Amino acid sequence: MNSPLLEVRGLQKHFLQRRGFPWPKTTTIRAVEDISLTIQPGEAMGLVGESGCGKSTAARAMLRLIEPTAGTVRFKGENVLTARGEALKTMRRRMQIVFQDPYSSLNPRQTVGSALMEPMAVHNIATGPDARRRAAALLDEVGLPADALDRYPHEFSGGQRQRIGIARALTVEPELIVADEPVSALDVSVQAQVLLLLRELRERRGLAFLFVSHDLSVVRWFCDTVAVMYLGRIVEQGPVAEVLRAPLHPYANMLREASPEPDPSRRGILPRIIGEIPSAAAPPPGCAFHPRCGAGLAICSKIVPPLKALSDGRAVACHLYSPISGRPFSTTPAAISA
Ligand code: SF4
Repeated sequence: MNSPLLEVRGLQKHFLQRRGFPWPKTTTIRAVEDISLTIQPGEAMGLVGESGCGKSTAARAMLRLIEPTAGTVRFKGENVLTARGEALKTMRRRMQIVFQDPYSSLNPRQTVGSALMEPMAVHNIATGPDARRRAAALLDEVGLPADALDRYPHEFSGGQRQRIGIARALTVEPELIVADEPVSALDVSVQAQVLLLLRELRERRGLAFLFVSHDLSVVRWFCDTVAVMYLGRIVEQGPVAEVLRAPLHPYANMLREASPEPDPSRRGILPRIIGEIPSAAAPPPGCAFHPRCGAGLAICSKIVPPLKALSDGRAVACHLYSPISGRPFSTTPAAISA
């Protein structure tokens, strides 16, 4: 087996919030509580969950765009969280991000050419005419004309701006792209074109992806593996086809049930998502999903279920699949409704 490209263990990100007048109180927001995952070279992993589950915060903490509170992140074996100077600069070059909002991620006073050539200069890849030639080639690769080099971001549509954001990520020849909801701000008609572009780039360049999304149908189409997050923790992970066909965790099952069905013959009325995600400032004790879970056991409100690896390459954090629940250990979705 290849050595992993990205290895994350026990990642935490807490924020402190001071609120109240006249005696403000400090609260800890547990945005990311305990995330462990591994991405192999060329693999596309989806990170899914409802808004507020901590998926974007986790992705940014992995890249050190925000400093994690605890945990380890290794990129090709090198510790990302302790790297300094040139070592950190090299790692940052190899791990790039494509943001959700293509407009706010581009400087409105900078031409597209300058936005593409700047990272090449910072990382000593190319300058001058060579950088301009490379920038024009990148624009061509993402489906934009070379004359876009001398234009400004406001002159482009949302889909074109996202193509510019993708070209900018490619300027430094990354091996891993973190795509943070890359199409959710785009019109539906444009989403498919940008997704096709990302998949072509993935195949042509052998890129690995951490694909953050709330849209299971997009993740099913784009990714090899998926990790489902709930309130700062991964509750289920494994091959995307198996996890989304027959989720084991009740929350993953609820998300799947509420996701639009691509096969028209199997479409019905979408079930409602029950309840809301609790506040990360006051997570419920035990399994954070227990107030919304119809299959809750007595143990669920007391003990946090660990993420347990199963024999089929999947892992699930639920007492239904743990011998300490007192129930027969099972790895079948039927156990959820039993
Ligand atoms: Fe539901 Fe308990 Fe499993 Fe949590 S641990 S998902 S509450 S059955």
